[in-house]
Amino acid sequence: MKITIFGAGYVGLVTGTSFAELGNDVILVDIDEKRVSDLNQGTIPIYEPGLEEMLKRNIEEKRISFTLDASKAVKNSEIIFIAVGTPDKGDGSTDLKYVLSVAKTIGENINGYKVVVDKSTVPLGTAEKVRQTIKENMAEKHEFDLISNPEFLREGMAMRDFMVPDRIVIGFDSEKSKNLMSELYRGISRPESPIIYTSIPSAELIKYTSNAMLALRISFMNQLAPLCELHESADIKEIALGIGYDKRIGSKFLQAGIGFGGSCFPKDVASLAYELKINNLDNNLIQAILDVNEKAKVAMIPKIQNVLGENLKGKNIAIWGLAFKQRTDDMREAPSIKIIEELQKLGAKITAYDPQSVENAKKIFTNVIYAPDPYTCVKGADAVILVTEWGVFRNLDMLRVKNLMNKPNLFDGRNIYDPKKKREIGFNYYSIGRN
Ligand code: NAD
Repeated sequence: MKITIFGAGYVGLVTGTSFAELGNDVILVDIDEKRVSDLNQGTIPIYEPGLEEMLKRNIEEKRISFTLDASKAVKNSEIIFIAVGTPDKGDGSTDLKYVLSVAKTIGENINGYKVVVDKSTVPLGTAEKVRQTIKENMAEKHEFDLISNPEFLREGMAMRDFMVPDRIVIGFDSEKSKNLMSELYRGISRPESPIIYTSIPSAELIKYTSNAMLALRISFMNQLAPLCELHESADIKEIALGIGYDKRIGSKFLQAGIGFGGSCFPKDVASLAYELKINNLDNNLIQAILDVNEKAKVAMIPKIQNVLGENLKGKNIAIWGLAFKQRTDDMREAPSIKIIEELQKLGAKITAYDPQSVENAKKIFTNVIYAPDPYTCVKGADAVILVTEWGVFRNLDMLRVKNLMNKPNLFDGRNIYDPKKKREIGFNYYSIGRN
């Protein structure tokens, strides 16, 4: 099939590369000139395990190409994906300017029947706005259909998630477009990865509901974590284990820690809370997910002050991990941002290490020293805070770490270490929801 995808970001690149791998002809359109020229020279703008290898193979075999020429791309494809950003405007509402600008371009260049597939995460009712925008900008009248096909991939696992998804959601309102989508996903759908056909509005809302539910589980555990800390041997990880075996609950997304971040959970939960509010509906449960998360991000700060003093002037603090989670270079809404800002406000000097996100971090922080490895990072530090649960931090020589530090204060923001073992080798160890 001939496919065009607008937006060569995390979702567009993974979607495009995967469909190319399945034998389709894919054109990726972006408005970022540097991104398009880098991609044409084989430079991948993001870090996503497995993407580079698959993308390079498909570029060589000429199944995928990159362009700024939206007009040609629209004219040459029957299926057009919209996979551009849908950022938070600041008040929780979703900025649809990128999505509607693509819709305008599609309208201006439509030259025959097209299926326009919205893969960006968009609020209820956006498909109708896209449909209207395409219609209003049509130079000549052509038939087209809209599909809502939200994406559920996780950064860091995106290639596998796309090829072996838990489910594929397709919101449709015409049999013709439904059949085309089922044909397109033939190489991916299987009994373990079924296609769920829904109305378009349901598909739009499924994505937000899914992210809000996952984020709710994290905030739920984070709200209970301080209660565990009041009791010497209560442990939030044991609570998660104890409830997770209940099949009605399940064990995923129950980790207490310094909160969730990323380009999806914060903005998607905020968008859902906003939609409820502007429709005069209760949003207190959804809003609480965000409120708890903001507190979780800085929950370590008073603990650090307890150990190092109220004022952190002259204190060296090492940060392990900057990305919002492991296996990605994505810094969007990363908890590290808030933590570092707060520590700097209190006068601390920050040295950080992250395996992948330093280039992105440099665009955010001006006065952070970047270390080349976790050991250099802790040299002379009065405390180290583990912020991102990268695998590299699990198997470090912790005795060496301790000896490199000025003071052996270890703050584990992701509860990855065994408190007893760390104390045995001489660390003052602090974590979340356990003593
Ligand atoms: P991104 O910021 O990584 O990429 C968006 C790309 O779109 C950028 O390269 C930008 O230059 C390009 N763009 C903007 N306007 C354009 C236009 N008019 N024409 C062509 N290209 C244009 O975004 P992302 O993380 O890939 O997210 C895209 C959408 O998918 C969002 O709605 C997001 O919520 C959703 N989503 C993201 C993830 C994720 O893990 N990143 C997962 C599921 C869903």
